[in-house]
Amino acid sequence: MNTKLTIPSPLQKIEDPVYNKHNLEVFIKRDDLIHAEISGNKWRKLKYNFEKFKSGKYDAVLTFGGAYSNHIAATASAGSMFQIPTVGIIRGNELNEGSNATLAKAKADGMNLVFISREIYEQRYERIYHEELRREFGNVLIIEEGGANFLGAQGVAELVQEISFEPDYIYTAAGTGTTAAGLLLGTKTANIIAISALKNGNFLRDEIGKTLYYSLFDDELVADYLKRLTLETEYHFGGYGKYTDELLNFMQSWKAKTGIALEQVYTAKMIYAFEQDILANKIAPNSKVVLLHTGGLQGVLNNG
Ligand SMILES: *Cc1c(COP(=O)(O)O)cnc(C)c1O
Repeated sequence: MNTKLTIPSPLQKIEDPVYNKHNLEVFIKRDDLIHAEISGNKWRKLKYNFEKFKSGKYDAVLTFGGAYSNHIAATASAGSMFQIPTVGIIRGNELNEGSNATLAKAKADGMNLVFISREIYEQRYERIYHEELRREFGNVLIIEEGGANFLGAQGVAELVQEISFEPDYIYTAAGTGTTAAGLLLGTKTANIIAISALKNGNFLRDEIGKTLYYSLFDDELVADYLKRLTLETEYHFGGYGKYTDELLNFMQSWKAKTGIALEQVYTAKMIYAFEQDILANKIAPNSKVVLLHTGGLQGVLNNG
């Protein structure tokens, strides 16, 4: 496997007559190019967690996810790359490592896959359950589902330093909201536009607030940061992992226009929302916009 990570990831300008007409300079931050197998924002979120592992106190990294999780795939792949043992607690005791290509690949990367019932999975944030896991798997470094923790947000915040100007807007897709929180932490004035990939995504504002709190420890500061957040919850196309022909057509025409591939779970929904925002004049003219390509293309190949 390719052990090189492309960091800083490239920043690429996108030319489009519609963007020009609205006097927008539009760039895409190509975190999809960080690694072919480790989804871009998943690497950002894993980086400091893996560094913590290197302190030498831990036997393995343990984390949680569903059967198609980009985070599980990324953790397994990065574990193989850095020779760190990994344990994946997978939601669904009816599953096994042959259930799909994501799980087969994680297994091939050396991840110890453990399938548990949906009921037990509900305990994934419980201290008591973590103690149980440590009795079974040794002194594991536990990373939250989706890499959604303080260190994850810190890793994302860093990517902003790779951009030589402060954007007026940064668009990102949101699943746990950790990436959006990291972007808020990494910027001072930028508007962060987070597009929920899930139905009923309004809870994400609170989640993002909680992640911010772990860095800022001040409710007023958190409220200040959250003023720069716009959460768009209408672009889920039916819910997490769901899509329509319209979205697939959009993905294809965007690829034809830019040469850049998107996937239907996160990034296509985000860029679709961005283009709707342009047409609705929600973006101030003469702005610099950065679209964060969070990756996920590995998942598309896997899920067929
Ligand atoms: C996981 C993922 C996201 C969501 O990131 P959060 O930090 O959980 O909001 C967005 N895009 C891609 C491609 C992902 O794999």
